Amino acid sequence: MTKYVYSFGAGHNEGRADMRNLLGGKGANLAEMASIGLPVPPGFTITTELCTAYYEHGRSYPAELDAQVEAALGLIEQAVGLKFGDRSAPLLVSVRSGARVSMPGMMDTVLNLGLNDDTVVGLQAASGDPRFAWDSYRRFIQMYGSVVLGVDHHHFEDIIENAKHAAGVTEDTALSPEHWQDVVAEYKDMVARETGAPFPMDPKAQLWGAIGAVFGSWENPRANTYRRLHDIPASWGTAVNVQAMVFGNMGADCATGVCFTRDPSTGENIFYGEYLVNAQGEDVVAGIRTPQPMAAARAKPGEAPMETAMPGAYNELMAIRATLERHYKDMQDIEFTVQTGKLYMLQTRNGKRTAAASMRIAVDMANEGLIDRKEAILRVNPSALDQLLHPTLDPKAPRNLIAKGLPASPGAACGAVVFSADEAEMRAAKGEAVILVRIETSPEDIHGMHAARGILTTRGGMTSHAAVVARGMGRPCVAGAGGVSVDYNAQTLTAAGKTIHAGDTITLDGGTGEVFLGSVAMVEPAMSDDFTTLMGWADSIRRMKVRANAETPLDADTARKFGAEGIGLCRTEHMFFDPARISAVRQMIMAHDEAGRRAALAKLLPFQRKDFTDLFRIMAGLPVTIRLLDPPLHEFLPHTDAELEELAQAVGSDLATMRRRASELAEANPMLGHRGCRLGISYPEIYEMQARAIFEGAVAIAKETGNAPVPEIMIPLVGTRKELEITRAQIEKVAAEVFAESGMTIEHIIGTMIELPRACIIADKIAEVADFFSFGTNDLTQTTFGLSRDDAGKFLPTYVEQGILEKDPFISLDREGVGALVRIAAEGGRKTRPNIKLGICGEHGGDPSSIAFCESVGLDYVSCSPYRVPVARLAAAQAALGAGGDRTA
Ligand code: PEP
Ligand code: MG
Repeated sequence: MTKYVYSFGAGHNEGRADMRNLLGGKGANLAEMASIGLPVPPGFTITTELCTAYYEHGRSYPAELDAQVEAALGLIEQAVGLKFGDRSAPLLVSVRSGARVSMPGMMDTVLNLGLNDDTVVGLQAASGDPRFAWDSYRRFIQMYGSVVLGVDHHHFEDIIENAKHAAGVTEDTALSPEHWQDVVAEYKDMVARETGAPFPMDPKAQLWGAIGAVFGSWENPRANTYRRLHDIPASWGTAVNVQAMVFGNMGADCATGVCFTRDPSTGENIFYGEYLVNAQGEDVVAGIRTPQPMAAARAKPGEAPMETAMPGAYNELMAIRATLERHYKDMQDIEFTVQTGKLYMLQTRNGKRTAAASMRIAVDMANEGLIDRKEAILRVNPSALDQLLHPTLDPKAPRNLIAKGLPASPGAACGAVVFSADEAEMRAAKGEAVILVRIETSPEDIHGMHAARGILTTRGGMTSHAAVVARGMGRPCVAGAGGVSVDYNAQTLTAAGKTIHAGDTITLDGGTGEVFLGSVAMVEPAMSDDFTTLMGWADSIRRMKVRANAETPLDADTARKFGAEGIGLCRTEHMFFDPARISAVRQMIMAHDEAGRRAALAKLLPFQRKDFTDLFRIMAGLPVTIRLLDPPLHEFLPHTDAELEELAQAVGSDLATMRRRASELAEANPMLGHRGCRLGISYPEIYEMQARAIFEGAVAIAKETGNAPVPEIMIPLVGTRKELEITRAQIEKVAAEVFAESGMTIEHIIGTMIELPRACIIADKIAEVADFFSFGTNDLTQTTFGLSRDDAGKFLPTYVEQGILEKDPFISLDREGVGALVRIAAEGGRKTRPNIKLGICGEHGGDPSSIAFCESVGLDYVSCSPYRVPVARLAAAQAALGAGGDRTA
C-alpha cells in the first residue's frame, strides 16, 4: 500500500526537509521544524505523488487515501484534545497547497475549516468570544466560497459593505457578533444562489472539497502560466497540508506575521518583516490593514514594533531565527502566529531576495562561517546579476516626483502606463516599454508583470503579491503608493493633482519607492564590494575563461570593466555600417571588377586599421578574436532611390544600373547564401584588406606599447576543409607582406567558426588547417533545426508553451541536438590537434545552463555580450563546481 499521508507535530514527524519532492516545500519544512523542536501546530501532508495519481486516474483518489487521512486527522485530534466536527470542542484546520517550489497561482489557503452552524457554537463557548467565533465563521465561508467553490469575492464584499452601511459603521471591527451572524446567513444564501447548492455543513465534506480544490488548482491556467515562466514541470504535482488552526485574532495578546531572517532587499543582517496584532494570517499579505515592523531599529515614529509591543514572543522569535539560520544555513522567510501570548511557527522556507541581497547574504554567511565559499558561489543565481548591472536613476537628472510608495523591488524603470496585464503583454510584445499600474496585483497578473519593465501598485505592503513576485522576477516595483488613485474605467491615474492617461510615460525607482512623471535619465550601476568579493571567489574556482563579444571601444571598455579576459568575437561587419564609411562599402559592393573593389577597399583600410588598433590597445595583452566579414553583401545596400542615386554619382554610374546590380545581389535565402567565407573566396580582396588592417594595427600597437597583441583571426561559415585552406592562405600571404614591410613579426593564430552541421561532422579535417574553433551556436542552432533565426519568433513561443521544445533553443543551447554536434566537433578537433583551442561565441555563451554544457565539453572559453560577462564568470564557476546551471531558481 502506498503511503500518501505524512504526519507532523505532536511527536509524529514522518517527514524531513529533504523530502520536499514528495511533501512539497511547505510540508517538508513544517515536519523539519517540528522535528528540531520548534513550536508547530500538528498536522499532516498529503503527498505530491497523490496529485500525480489523481490526474492519472481521471481526477479521482486511490482507495487507500480515505483511511490514511482519517488516521492522520485522529492524531491531530489527540494532540490538541479537540474533535473535528465536535459541537462543544471543535477542531478547526487550515488547508494549504504546497508544491516543491512555492507557486503563486495555485489555491493558496483555506482557514478555519470545520466550522458550521453547530461547531461555531462550540468555538464561541471554547473561546468565550462570540465576536471571534462568528467572525471566524464568516471568514471561513468567504475563503472556502471563493477559493474552493469559485464564488466571485465581490459578492462577499457587497454583503459586508451593506452590513456596515445598515449598522452605520465604517470599519469591519465595529460590527457586533449579531451583525456577523446576519452576514453569515446572507453569505450562505448567496453561495447557495451562486453555486446552486447549499454551503457544505459537513466538516468532512468541507475537508475533501478543499483537498480537491488544491489538487484541481495544479492544472489551472494561472498555475500553468507560472510553471511555464519558471520552467516547472507539470509532473511535479502539489502536496496538501492540513494543520490544526491557531488563532492570531483572539485579542490584543494575539498576532500574526510574515518576516525574513535578513533584509530581502539589501541582504542586511537584520530581522525584517511585518506583523499585525489581533489578526489572521491572510490579513498581513492582503494589505487590508497596515502591518507594523518587527525590529525597533526599523520602526518609524508612531509605529509599534513587535520588539517593544510583544517582547516575550519577539525574543522567542529571535531565538528561532538563529536556530533556523543555523539549521538551514540560509535566509528564511517565515510565518508565525501568536495565540494568547504563545508563539507558533506556520512556515519556513528559503526566502526570495533581490540579486543584491543574495550576493550580500552569500558573502556574509561565508564570512560568518555558516557556509563555505563554494557554497556561496552556488547560492547566487547568475542570471539575477543582470539586475545589478543595469542602470539606476541619475541622481543629478531633473525629475518630477508625483508619488511615493514602498521600495518593493529595486532598479529603475521607465515606460508607458498600462492598466491591465493583458495590455502590458500585448504592448511589450511589440517592443514597447510599459509600466503595469494596478490597485493591487493577483496571480492572474503574472504574465503582465513579466512583460512590464516595472510595476506600480497603490495598495499592499512589502510582502504583498506584487512585491514578492516582482522581486522574484527582478522587475523594479513600487508597491502601496497610497497617494496614487487609479480609475480602470477612465484608464487614468491621479497623483499629486495630476491626471495621467494610459500611454503616458512614468518612471519608477524601485529602490526608493518614488514615482516620477515622464522619463528620468539613468546611470550605469556601481559594483558593490560584495559583488567584487563574490566575483573574486568565482574567478578562483572557474576553469573556463570568459571573453566578450565586442567591436566598439565602448563595448570593449565595458567588457574589461566587467572582467572580460579578451574578445571572443569582433563582428567586423558592424564596423562597416558607420556613416563615415558606408559609402566606400557600397562602392566596393557595386564595383564591376576587382580593380573597382580594390579602390573602394583602399578607402576602408585606414578605418579598419584604426578599429583594430583601438581594440588591441584596450585589450592590451589579452586575446582578441576578429572575425572577417560574414553577412551577405546586399545587407549594406541602400534602399531608397535617393540613396541609390547618390551611390550612382559616387561610382560614376546611373540609377538603372545601380538598381540592376542591387537586384542581382538579392537572394532568396540570404542566410544560406553568399555570405561568410563564401564572400572571401569570391572576392579575396575583402579578406586581404581586413587581414592587412589587423596586422598593421597589431604592428602599430606593438611599436606603441612594446606589448604585441596576439590576434586570432576567424573565418566564418566554413563547411569544408578547402574553404578554410584557401582563406587561410590569403591571410598568411598578407601577414608575410606586412611583416616584411614593417620589419616585425606578429604572433597570431588562424581559426574558424564552427556553425554548420557539416563542419561539426568533418571537424577533424577542418582542424588540420585551424588553430582554433569557436562555436557559432546561433547559426549552428539555425542550421541544425532548419529554423530561421529571424522568423522563428512567430512560432517558437507556441512550441515552448506546448512542450514541443523545453526552451527556446536560441536562448538556451539544445543539448540533445546542437549540443551533440558540438561534442562531435570538439572530439574531431582534438583528435587531429590535441591542444586545439575551443570556445563559443553564440548568444549561448552568456546563458548559465549553456555555460554548464560548455564546461562538460571542456571548452576553453565562453564569449558573450559585455553585460553578461559577470553572469558568465559566476556561471562558469558554478559549472566548474558541477552545478547544471539551473540550481538556483
Ligand atoms: C553565431 O552564429 O553563433 C555567431 C556568433 O555569429 P553571428 O551571430 O554573427 O552569425
Ligand atoms: Mg554566425
